[in-house]
Amino acid sequence: TVTVFGLLERASQNYPDKEAIFDGANRITYKRLMEETQSIAAALSQKGYQKGDRVIVSLPNWYEAVAIYFALAQLGVILIPCNTRYSKEELVYILENSGAKGMFVGKDFQYFEDFKNYLQSSDSSLEDIFAVRSEMSEFSGYRDLLEKGKGISASPAPIDPADDVFTILYTSGTTGKPKGAMLTHENVIYSAELSADMLKCTKDDVYLIPVPIFHVFGLVPGILSVVSKGSKMVFLEEYKAIEALKRIESEKVTVHHGVPTMFILELNHPDFQKFDLSSLRTGIIAAAPCPEEIVRRIRTEMGCDIQVSYGLTETSAPVTFTSFDDDDYLKSTTVGKFLPGYEGKIVDVQRQKVGIGEIGEIAVKGKGVMKGYYKMPEYTQAAFDEEGYFYTGDSGTMDEHGYIRIVGRKKELIIRGGYNIYPREIEEHFYKHPSVLEVAIIGLPDTVLGEISCAVIKLKPGHVEDEQSMKDYIKDKVADFKVPDRFVFVDKLPITASGKIIKHELKNIITEKLK
Ligand code: ATP
Repeated sequence: TVTVFGLLERASQNYPDKEAIFDGANRITYKRLMEETQSIAAALSQKGYQKGDRVIVSLPNWYEAVAIYFALAQLGVILIPCNTRYSKEELVYILENSGAKGMFVGKDFQYFEDFKNYLQSSDSSLEDIFAVRSEMSEFSGYRDLLEKGKGISASPAPIDPADDVFTILYTSGTTGKPKGAMLTHENVIYSAELSADMLKCTKDDVYLIPVPIFHVFGLVPGILSVVSKGSKMVFLEEYKAIEALKRIESEKVTVHHGVPTMFILELNHPDFQKFDLSSLRTGIIAAAPCPEEIVRRIRTEMGCDIQVSYGLTETSAPVTFTSFDDDDYLKSTTVGKFLPGYEGKIVDVQRQKVGIGEIGEIAVKGKGVMKGYYKMPEYTQAAFDEEGYFYTGDSGTMDEHGYIRIVGRKKELIIRGGYNIYPREIEEHFYKHPSVLEVAIIGLPDTVLGEISCAVIKLKPGHVEDEQSMKDYIKDKVADFKVPDRFVFVDKLPITASGKIIKHELKNIITEKLK
């Protein structure tokens, strides 16, 4: 199959009556998903939407979002998924950068009034706001589009999969302005099919997609992998460990995708033992450092042969993967090897290859790697070298068999009095401590050493520890300069919608707290 819409066409022909989506409120078969997709596409086409236009979709994990994604793909209209928690400023930035013509938002959208101005203003590209699951008479909604497009079909746009962009996914912008990664139809299909194959998925698999579908993880190895095989997807609208556990049991989930935080919360939930999780077969843990201890516990306590993967928005997600054949040690300490279709290397600051086991930046080229950043040629140029390798900004090592270990993000490296501290290494030790639920090691400015390290720890409920007990625990495990200078205990760590600890925000919170 060569286009994203083609994936749905195939699944709906092969398995019309099979359930494609359960989103907590609706059960949608492939036939119905296809019908709604076609109606939405027909209605949008009548309104003048055509190939190359851009449309923002800012929706939670609802089935309607999936129909909209495929409808846009059918017309060759470029999908711009947006975080539902974006502030007005963030959305405006994306609207202006992308020049979007339409926008789909949900019932909780707070900025209807502000965005109305953009509809009226002649400087703005925005022509329509479509409300989903909302009764606002002022704007046309998903239901209206369905009505208008009922029984009509728009012919699929001619797509060149290698060149035509399916989606522009904006990075979360921890490194500056959000950048729009342009992913072609071929990029995402290659990546989605490969993920499904790595997990040996078939139409009989049931995926739990607890990560947001406006993020690359939920979109590519999530939705698109599912549709590529005609499997079923089960959504969580808002992540709660107890809801995830309930849904695994009731829907007999076989494939559990998630970020480390989700697995940590599930494994440590007081009712964890009460659930029957025997249907679980595999899944992907990714998107943030995956502590060894957690990967082991998923295997032993959940009975789920989880695979660790490493990837980025810019690469349509997975570029490395562990495999079912790897032994337990490799599965819990590495992110596997580069996938077929990708070539990777580890390089120093001069972009020269480093030796086996040496730390350097990970660079990768291959089938899922984006076309470039939208309207940002200078960033695109800086991110690639002349051989076409993309520079990830992550540090890692490669062993003699090609297994990759992620050491940390280049920008999270702490330099304490000239010595490098990789937060990841210290965090791994704390994750083995019986009282620690979550931990983040961050750097704080220091007049003498430049930076010092601080451990921010969330304890398991009912556990008591203090600075001294934590210091005693870590001190013979790592070199003295790596022992955190400060310890702060918190009830909550700031996390992104995609489940990652927001270290720069945490830095600000802790700096304030320590003042
Ligand atoms: P921004 O780049 O704007 O800060 P982001 O980093 O959240 O946003 P994503 O594309 O969502 O953007 O995440 C990719 C990053 O996630 C990688 O660069 C890497 O740092 C991290 N990551 C992904 N998988 C793993 C993994 N298995 N282990 C460690 N880190 C991972």
